[in-house]
Amino acid sequence: FEKIKNQLKSENPVNYNKFLKNLILDEDNSTSSHLIIKAPNIFIATYIKRKYLPKISVLYEKETGIKPNIEIITGKIKPKITNIEPIQTTTQISVLIPEYTFESFIVGPSNQFAYTAAKSVAENPGKNYNPLFIYGGVGLGKTHLLQAIGNYLKNRLNVLYVTSEQFMNEFIENIRMKTPERFHEKYRNCDVLLIDDVQFFAGKEQTQEEFFHTFNELYNQKKQICLTADRPPKKLYDLVDRLRSRFEAGLIVDIQPPELETKIEIIRKKCELNGIYLPDEIIEYIATKLDSNIREIEGMITKINAMSKILGVNEITLDFAKQALKEHIKDKKENITLEDIIELIAKEFNIKPSEITSKSRNRNIVQARRCAIYLAREFTQESTPKIATYFGLKDHSAVSHAIKSFNKKLKEDSNFRMKIEELKSKIQLKKSE
Ligand code: ADP
Ligand code: MG
Repeated sequence: FEKIKNQLKSENPVNYNKFLKNLILDEDNSTSSHLIIKAPNIFIATYIKRKYLPKISVLYEKETGIKPNIEIITGKIKPKITNIEPIQTTTQISVLIPEYTFESFIVGPSNQFAYTAAKSVAENPGKNYNPLFIYGGVGLGKTHLLQAIGNYLKNRLNVLYVTSEQFMNEFIENIRMKTPERFHEKYRNCDVLLIDDVQFFAGKEQTQEEFFHTFNELYNQKKQICLTADRPPKKLYDLVDRLRSRFEAGLIVDIQPPELETKIEIIRKKCELNGIYLPDEIIEYIATKLDSNIREIEGMITKINAMSKILGVNEITLDFAKQALKEHIKDKKENITLEDIIELIAKEFNIKPSEITSKSRNRNIVQARRCAIYLAREFTQESTPKIATYFGLKDHSAVSHAIKSFNKKLKEDSNFRMKIEELKSKIQLKKSE
């Protein structure tokens, strides 16, 4: 854009100084085909629109090969209008990890259904369930199962595994480089398309549009498509309906958090695969103390193992494991529930638990309620709307208001501060129980 401005400057320096100098390209919201140009005021905006718009357009096209759609705005930069989505950083590399197989996947009631469906798809790609849609929480094995399908088939079929982010980035990149056919060639000629974490398609309309075509093309050729997401299709709110209905047309399976038994077995398996020996006692300890995110559990196993090596410990004892995990488990906010907090505060303020969540404006109760809200925010992972509802507040901003009043009091009243410190350490104690 600066280049274009310079060209216009050389054409007519006087007009440049009067009208063009202060134009800014709203880089955050512009895309390669949709330019948003900010003018300092309405007069300049109007003038630019009348006299310069076609010129800018032509120069831009000459420079980039893209015919732009130009919007001139004044004053504040407008909220985002996405036309072509910005490139996002890829959090996960899109390759098949050989270790993610059906054999290394522990099956239990929580994932039995998803496992069986994935296995059946791998055995009969394009025939049984198309698409297969696997959904579930973080670290519960979606990627593992998706990749197991890929690993099962990769020797005899053309398997393509990508995260939805990578799909999007490649799509954008190919549009930028004006090589859409490369993209089509890659994605429309595979036998098995595995797309991980499709929730990232939310709100990315162009990418969805492209994916819709890819999907149809493959589907019509009876190629297998498998998708994962953190929620079922009907809850992918920012997805265009026709894509959602495609997702819903096949088989939808969920993965639930593993039961304790399954968790224990998964930990055993991971230890075995990594050549780590942990006594049963410790495995059970980890399984009960950590929540269901298997990825996190794996991290902890590695941590215990690494610490034992560094410290030269021959035998890993329960105490050692506790020590290694202490910080982590202490950090877990899930251990504290809203009920715990209410109970504690009620005792501390000498009021009934029900009074805390009531609408009472009694000063002592209001104070207690604010403390409870503050602690709920600090020590639980409940969302603000949930906290608002729980404590009988109207909305998000009522919670912010309560926290503000709380902080004010905290600043002004040192007795209060001490009391809060005490409450916090009581909660800490509770957490490490
Ligand atoms: P998601 O994609 O659902 O966030 P992943 O598939 O990446 O989760 O799983 C996280 C880690 O947990 C991976 O290392 C995976 O191998 C492991 N894992 C999850 N479930 C199982 C299972 N049932 N058996 C063995 N390993 C599992
Ligand atoms: Mg995953």
